[in-house]
Amino acid sequence: MGYSIEGVRTIRGQGTTGVTKGDEMTEQGNIIVQVKRAAKEKYAWPGGYPLFIVLANGAALCTECAKKEIGLIAAATSQGYQDGWKVSGVDVNWEDTSLYCDHCSEPIESAYGEEQEA
Ligand SMILES: [Zn+2]
Repeated sequence: MGYSIEGVRTIRGQGTTGVTKGDEMTEQGNIIVQVKRAAKEKYAWPGGYPLFIVLANGAALCTECAKKEIGLIAAATSQGYQDGWKVSGVDVNWEDTSLYCDHCSEPIESAYGEEQEA
């Protein structure tokens, strides 16, 4: 008989690195939930104010693009990728009429900045 390993050696301590990131992960998970909600509802509730997504690089993203690219956004945000899809938060555009989506270049609706056509 040749050499044999008795039992399986468990390397203790593996997988514990990054445990302190627990709070951060929760926050990122919460952001993804907010992005998904914004992509679906498009408006804050209550109030009906227009939402947009703030990317980690400072760019703005409309809810339509968020909807289309939710997979990329969720991956980048949860994994911390610096690929332009990492989200730092969801916000209401109160009155910035010169806010445009950095992805599709469409204007992002504002709550008070302009009259909405009926
Ligand atoms: Zn867009």
